[in-house]
Amino acid sequence: MRIARFTTGDDPRFAVVDGETGQETLAVVTGDPLVSAVRFTGERIPVEGTRLLSPVLPRSKVVAIGGNSARDRDGEGPWEPQAFLKPNTSVVGPDDPIVLPPWSSEVHCEGELAVVIGRICRDLPRHRVPEVIVGYTCANDVTARDRQEEPGGSWRAKGADTFCPLGPFLVTDLDTSDLRIRTRLDGNIVQDGRTGSMPWDVADLVCHVSMAMTLLPGDVLLTGTPVPSAPMSAGQRVEVEVEGIGTLSNPVVVR
Ligand code: MG
Repeated sequence: MRIARFTTGDDPRFAVVDGETGQETLAVVTGDPLVSAVRFTGERIPVEGTRLLSPVLPRSKVVAIGGNSARDRDGEGPWEPQAFLKPNTSVVGPDDPIVLPPWSSEVHCEGELAVVIGRICRDLPRHRVPEVIVGYTCANDVTARDRQEEPGGSWRAKGADTFCPLGPFLVTDLDTSDLRIRTRLDGNIVQDGRTGSMPWDVADLVCHVSMAMTLLPGDVLLTGTPVPSAPMSAGQRVEVEVEGIGTLSNPVVVR
C-alpha cells in the first residue's frame, strides 16, 4: 500500500495512492494511517492538482546514519554505524525548495532509503524490527559538506531548514534487501547505488539506534547513502528515486 499526505489548500489529509506513476489517484482516508486504521471517505482525487507533503512529519526526531557504504567498511579498528539527528524542522516534502544557506558554499545531496517507525520501541531485538516499521519513503540527506567537520558541525551541516526532503509516498510493503537508489541533478545521474551493498541493513540500524534512543511512532530513520554524494547548485532540480517507492523531486534555491 502507498500512502500520501497531501493538501488541496486546507489542512493536510491522508490518502491511499492508486495508479501508475504520473497518473496516480488519491483515495482519501479519515485520520492519520500511522495511528488509526485506514477508513476510506469515498472521495477520490487525481494527484495532479494537489500538493503532496512529506508523508510523515516526525514527531520527535529523524535519526540519520553515516558510514553505511561499502567504502566505509575498509580499514581497521572498531566499526559501527555512526548516527546523528536531523531536527523535524529540516523536513520538507516533494517539490518544496531546498534552500542553500549563506554560510555554506558546498551543499551535497545524499539519496537514501528512509524507514518510518510506527510503534514505540527501545532495546529492540532484530527479529522484532518488522513489527515497529510502518513503511518506507525516499529521503535526501542534504549536507553542508564544508561545515560538517567543524566541531559540533552536524547541527547545521545536517540539520538546517529544508535539509531533509521526504516523499513522495509512504510504502508499507517493501523488501528493502537490495533496492536501487539513484540521485539525479537536472536529469543526470550523480549517485547510483543499491541497498544490498550497504554493510548494515534496516534491521541492524533500527536495533542499533533503539539501544540508545526510544523510537516513537512517526520517527524517521535515514539508512545512509550507499555511494559518494554530489554537490548541488542553486537553480538545479534534484531527484532521489528509490526502487519500489518512487521519485522525490526538489528544486534547489539560494536564500
Ligand atoms: Mg547520509
